[in-house]
Amino acid sequence: MSDDFYCDEVLSGRTQVRRVRETERVLAYHHTRPFWPVHVVVIPKVHVPSLIDLGEVDEGILGELLEVVRDVAAEVTAEHGSARVLTNLGEYQDSKHLHFHVNHGAPRE
Ligand SMILES: [Zn+2]
Repeated sequence: MSDDFYCDEVLSGRTQVRRVRETERVLAYHHTRPFWPVHVVVIPKVHVPSLIDLGEVDEGILGELLEVVRDVAAEVTAEHGSARVLTNLGEYQDSKHLHFHVNHGAPRE
């Protein structure tokens, strides 16, 4: 298995996703294998390794990402009453491409 699902599958178009929001450099879509009942993933459309390693990309990407994360989180909160926003780092980070999870509800088994 690749350690960059987002470049290899999502951004390449190999895996189809249901878009929630999209800007020039950011994409939000419904997780293809949701871990929570409501589970949206927000990713940069350029390769960024993680929140603490932006690789070649300018810091402006963080503002652009957070703007979309905020919009999606506001929508989930308005609709369901609560939401979480999280990003994994180090060994917790399965796919080595920065991604935020916006989610609501109890984790699935
Ligand atoms: Zn990538």
